[in-house]
Amino acid sequence: MKTRFAPSPTGPLHLGHAYSALRAHELAEDMGGKFILRIEDIDQGRSRKEWEALIHEDLRWLGLSWEAPVLRQSGRRDAYRAALDSLWQRGLLYVCTCNRRDVLSAASAPNEGEPLGGPDGIVYPGTCRSKPRTHTAMPDGVALRLNMSSALKQFGMKRSGLWKAAPESGTFRAFLETGRGPNGETGIIHASHEHLVDNIGDVVLARRGFGTSYHLSVVVDDAFQNITHVVRGEDLFDATLIHVLLQHLLGLETPTYMHHGLLRDEVGNRLAKRHDSMAISSYRKAGTTPADIRSLVGL
Ligand code: GLU
Repeated sequence: MKTRFAPSPTGPLHLGHAYSALRAHELAEDMGGKFILRIEDIDQGRSRKEWEALIHEDLRWLGLSWEAPVLRQSGRRDAYRAALDSLWQRGLLYVCTCNRRDVLSAASAPNEGEPLGGPDGIVYPGTCRSKPRTHTAMPDGVALRLNMSSALKQFGMKRSGLWKAAPESGTFRAFLETGRGPNGETGIIHASHEHLVDNIGDVVLARRGFGTSYHLSVVVDDAFQNITHVVRGEDLFDATLIHVLLQHLLGLETPTYMHHGLLRDEVGNRLAKRHDSMAISSYRKAGTTPADIRSLVGL
C-alpha cells in the first residue's frame, strides 16, 4: 500500500490541504503502508521554491513524515512526452489553438445554451477538433486536447470489464471501485459515456508551453511511483474519471480512489488557497497546535 500527498507549490497550504494530507497519512498508518510527498510544479510560472519549503515545514509541523528524495514533476518532462506521444500516434490528441476567450465565445454562441462547466472550467465546444492534422510527429510547445469521444470508443472496444456497455442505450458505463475507506465505507463511481463527452469533454493533456497538464502528469506519476491508494477531495470526482480513462489508454494500473468531503467555512464556501487567513502557517504563527488543527478539520 502506498499513498501520496501531491500539492502544487503555488501558495501556502490551507486547512483543506492539511485535511487531505492527514487522511492520506492516517490511511497509510492504518494499512501499514507508505505515505509519500510529491511536488506538482508543472506550472513553472506560478511555482516558487519558497512555497515548496513552506509545504515541507507545515507538513512536518503537522507530524507527517515521508521518504526522501521527493519527486518533482518539473523533472519528468520526458515521461510525459512519451505518454502523450503514444496517445498522439493513436490519433487521440489534437492541437488546440483556442485561448480562453475563444472557448468562452464559442461555448456561449446562440443555440449552444448556457456554457457547461467541466472539471477544468467550460467544457470545450470542439472548435479545433476536426481541423486536419498538419504534422505526423507530435508538435512541441502547443496545447493538445484529448478527443474524448474517440478515446471512449478505443477504450470501450478494448475493455468491457470496467466500462460496461449498457445494452439499452449502446453507451458505456464506468464502474470504478473506490475501495474501502477508513470507516469501512465502499463505493463505486458510475459514469456514462454521455457524461464524459458532454460534461467533461476534450480535456487539455498538454498546456501550451508546459508539455503536460495536471491530468496527464498525475496519472503518469501515480503509476511511476506505484501509488496504490489516492486520497483526494470529492471536487476531483470528475477528474478521477479522466484519470481512470487515461490509465486504461496508457496501459497503467488504476489505484483505489478515496474521495473525502470538502471543508467549508461558516457560510458554506469551500476553503480555497486564496483564503490566506486559513493558511497553516498563519495558524502556526498564531500559536495553534497540530492537535488543534486536527480537531478544526474534524479528525
Ligand atoms: N496537485 C493536485 C492538487 O493539489 C493533486 C490532487 C490529486 O491529484 O489528488 O489538487
